[in-house]
Amino acid sequence: MIRVTVWNEFRHERHSPAVAAIYPDGIHEAIARPLRAAGFSVRTATLDEPEHGLTDQVLADTDVLIWWGHTAHHEVADTAVDRVQARVLAGMGLVVLHSGHFSKVFKRLMGTSCDLKWREAGERERIWVVEPGHPIAEGLGDYFEIAEEEMYGERFDVPPPEALVFISWFQGGEVFRSGCCYTRGAGRIFYFRPGHETHPTYHHPQVQRVIVNAVRWAAPTPGVTLAYGHRPQPLERLR
Ligand code: ZN
Repeated sequence: MIRVTVWNEFRHERHSPAVAAIYPDGIHEAIARPLRAAGFSVRTATLDEPEHGLTDQVLADTDVLIWWGHTAHHEVADTAVDRVQARVLAGMGLVVLHSGHFSKVFKRLMGTSCDLKWREAGERERIWVVEPGHPIAEGLGDYFEIAEEEMYGERFDVPPPEALVFISWFQGGEVFRSGCCYTRGAGRIFYFRPGHETHPTYHHPQVQRVIVNAVRWAAPTPGVTLAYGHRPQPLERLR
């Protein structure tokens, strides 16, 4: 069974009645619910827990980590970022959502600014599937729409994705690479754009479908062992 940890900053829901009305149990629980229904073993972790809920043991027991953060990226300890990066390189999957583009974890793994254009105007987002054969696009058709979302526009300063699964179009005219796949070491990383906290995006069935698909895709390949370092004994006799 795939073991998922949903990490959420969990600040907006506690400080904003408007956000709490949409996500009364927190964004992490809204994300976790359809993952549990899909049969994954799911736990949640939040910023204000000791070690942000991301101890060595939790990370060792995590196949795929999901990341939502926004206002408190700077409060995430560098030691936690180090641990997450090391686990990704060793094979843990990572799904970064929406404003997680500016998280320390994502910027560390991308090595770029991860900056973008944005506008909060509650406009329609049409998410086009541009790789219909990709496992993350399973069951989605040509496109799906979110009635009201924040706009993210290009340029999105990330390395060229190894696979680009979705492109978003916004009512205001901008476009955005909204489903980007990467590998870092043995780990798979998926960035998925939607999820502004003042819109009910994580209750949207196709958004939930994408995150379920992404967890399956990002889960580690079984049996991978990484070995590095000095090899004094050659496999063949030399000379
Ligand atoms: Zn946002």
